[in-house]
Amino acid sequence: MLTFEFHSPEQEIIFPLYAQNNVRVFVKRDDLIHPYISGNKWRKLKYAVNQAKEQKKQKLVTFGGAWSNHLLATAAAGATFGFKTVGIVRGEQVDNPVLKLCQLFGMKLNFVSRTSYKNKKLLFEENFGSDPHAFYIAEGGYSREGLLGCRDMIGELTRSYDSIFCACGTGTTVAGLQLGINEYQLKSNVFGIPVLKGANFLLDEIEKLGLCTGNLPTLLFDYHFGGYAKTNPELISFVRSFTSQTGILIEPTYTGKLFFALHDQISKGQVPPDSTILAVHTGGLTGILGLLDKF
Ligand SMILES: *Cc1c(COP(=O)(O)O)cnc(C)c1O
Repeated sequence: MLTFEFHSPEQEIIFPLYAQNNVRVFVKRDDLIHPYISGNKWRKLKYAVNQAKEQKKQKLVTFGGAWSNHLLATAAAGATFGFKTVGIVRGEQVDNPVLKLCQLFGMKLNFVSRTSYKNKKLLFEENFGSDPHAFYIAEGGYSREGLLGCRDMIGELTRSYDSIFCACGTGTTVAGLQLGINEYQLKSNVFGIPVLKGANFLLDEIEKLGLCTGNLPTLLFDYHFGGYAKTNPELISFVRSFTSQTGILIEPTYTGKLFFALHDQISKGQVPPDSTILAVHTGGLTGILGLLDKF
């Protein structure tokens, strides 16, 4: 099995808010798994990359926007485990630090119009249908394999938690956490914070991944700040103060919204007293490079 022999630590963080409400908060530091194959992106790639290896494929083909953490993770994972990589990028040709890093890891970039980007299977078929070495990886790692990789996080935990919070894009990570909780028959409540506006479709997407029986995660829809990668001064100031008080860097697109939501839920008394909470730091810190002008 191709993997990093690294279980990310669970670290307790301290804020007066937590003591006032009698809760303890731990952070699962998936941001420490790898600087560029970061956090949940490695969890979501792990089984797919292994499948590609087993099928003797040589080229990973995947999809993303111009600041995609998933593209960068795939580029770096490809370089690490001996695959060529191709990133199909949504929209007109651009240049930015994330795409530069992708290229540095050897990824070939192929920019496509927003219209043709909508049909990824077709794009793959047209460009790689006759290439026996090419292996398709879904945008954002949304897949059954991705779900199983995220589930594995639960098996690493060193203590029990009343609730587990994580940020949601495709919902694969929160679904995997819930699957792990169900499989291990744990009692933790799983909460997802969608970072997109109008994310009502997420529960369907989560069910489609196949959670079998058991609970579904609870989604808290009120923390998107206007939509994907949208921010406001309150969020930026939260990210700044959280980072300077914990030494744990977060960014506004995912983990900033996650911790903002957690603090808001605690301060509104939505988290029962005496709870022990796990917040998953899903990584993705290069995302901050596109938002530096907000700080
Ligand atoms: C991609 C990403 C997510 C979203 O994960 P999903 O499994 O798509 O819900 C969350 N946090 C970070 C930092 C990410 O890069």
